[in-house]
Amino acid sequence: MRYQIFIFCLLFSLVSFAGDKVKIGIFTGANHTKVNITVTGIYALIGDGGVLATLSKDDKNIQLDAAADGVNATLDGRFLGRFKRVMFQHYGAAEFKVYPAAGKANSYIFPEDLIVTSVLNRLQLVNSLDIESYVPGVVEAEGGKGHLEEYYKVQSVISRTYALNNLRRHEAEGFHLCDGTHCQVYHGRSRFEPLIAAAAAKTNGIVIVDDNIDLITAAFHSNCGGHTINAEDVWSKPLSYCVGRADTFCLLMPHSNWEKSIPRSQWTDYLESKRYPVSDSTTANALAYFPSEKQIFFVDSTFKIPLRVIRSDLKLRSTFFTVHQQGDQVTFIGQGFGHGVGLCQEGAMRMAQLGYAYDEIIHYYYKNVHLVPKHLIWFFKFD
Ligand SMILES: [Zn+2]
Ligand SMILES: [Zn+2]
Repeated sequence: MRYQIFIFCLLFSLVSFAGDKVKIGIFTGANHTKVNITVTGIYALIGDGGVLATLSKDDKNIQLDAAADGVNATLDGRFLGRFKRVMFQHYGAAEFKVYPAAGKANSYIFPEDLIVTSVLNRLQLVNSLDIESYVPGVVEAEGGKGHLEEYYKVQSVISRTYALNNLRRHEAEGFHLCDGTHCQVYHGRSRFEPLIAAAAAKTNGIVIVDDNIDLITAAFHSNCGGHTINAEDVWSKPLSYCVGRADTFCLLMPHSNWEKSIPRSQWTDYLESKRYPVSDSTTANALAYFPSEKQIFFVDSTFKIPLRVIRSDLKLRSTFFTVHQQGDQVTFIGQGFGHGVGLCQEGAMRMAQLGYAYDEIIHYYYKNVHLVPKHLIWFFKFD
């Protein structure tokens, strides 16, 4: 019986791979009131459920502007009407561009569908697309150019896992994820690095789950400085798969070391504001601080100053640093860049350079996780 269910689920997963749409709020920080849109490929332009026009060339210009009770649509200078919801529904391979009437132009190209509504006299633009079309855009916007395909596979699996694990972040606004750092940065499809689309396609549908077959919180950071740290030491909540471990792969990478100097008085004033005693012998420990390994608290847990708070307050690159006094200055000499939880990106880049496969890299940084096709989660969890 279980075998039959497995076959059924496998067939179901193969069929439904093509149909997982995500709705991404685009230009969410921009507050556009008027935009022009051009398309490449074939689209139906739909206003409140009725087809207004078929669009097949990029020389047609559709202008949309926000009104209090809807969206005004104009096609090549001809007013089409005011609608609650304007949709660009694609047929086959099709893409659109958005040109804001005010503000800076951009050259982003978005695949698949666009849904436009008016919210508080502003246009709300939502790109509705298959998650597999979304992933390469995120990987390029977040990860940049010039890396190896195996590293892009790691980022593809992480971005896909993150997206599916956070589909309710903007539920109240009517879309799944925004296009900013709050969710994952997304500027339309990838345009500069062909390896990214290949890497996303080669990991099609693969996500990371924990021992309970739950999608993981796939935390990552730029460079751990030689040792990743436990999730609970940064966010108070433990994650069984984000457990600190030594990492030598990132030690000679671009963000492995940093240095920052501030006036000694600024440092002692800061410590005083945190109730650290600055007028007795413990001051010396704050001016010559050399932890031998990663710590959670500054100097000693009795003072209750978490290093993550110092990092945030003084805008330091990491919590892994020493403090030296030099005259009326103190210098922080540190390692790594970022919170240090989960996957170390520069370590992962180095592992890819050394020939490790993407799944080996993921298993190195996340403990006891599994890589599975996303639709098989349902089979394992609910069988
Ligand atoms: Zn968001
Ligand atoms: Zn590292």
